[in-house]
Amino acid sequence: MHPGFVRAAELLPTPKAAGLPAERLAGTRCVWCGGAATDALSARLSVVKGELVRWKPRSCLPCLRREAKRVYGIHITVCARCTHRDYCPDNKALYPLALECR
Ligand SMILES: [Zn+2]
Ligand SMILES: [Zn+2]
Repeated sequence: MHPGFVRAAELLPTPKAAGLPAERLAGTRCVWCGGAATDALSARLSVVKGELVRWKPRSCLPCLRREAKRVYGIHITVCARCTHRDYCPDNKALYPLALECR
């Protein structure tokens, strides 16, 4: 597993917990597509039915890559810390996940 993985997973926004099927909320299914989950994302705090819950979403690899790519694409256009010569730690965490094989 890439050392930047945990950091990158924290940067990926998940769907709203309140609207998710129980299996995706429990992390047994991919939080995005509902397929078999292979990769753990960072724990989240969300309000579900009026209560604050801590949940640990998981993801399949294709969704993880797609979301990392998407967030990376947004990041690179809005981040004030990233220049053409130097990239911020967030970017360095996202980049391998979005573009490299592991
Ligand atoms: Zn998926
Ligand atoms: Zn940046």
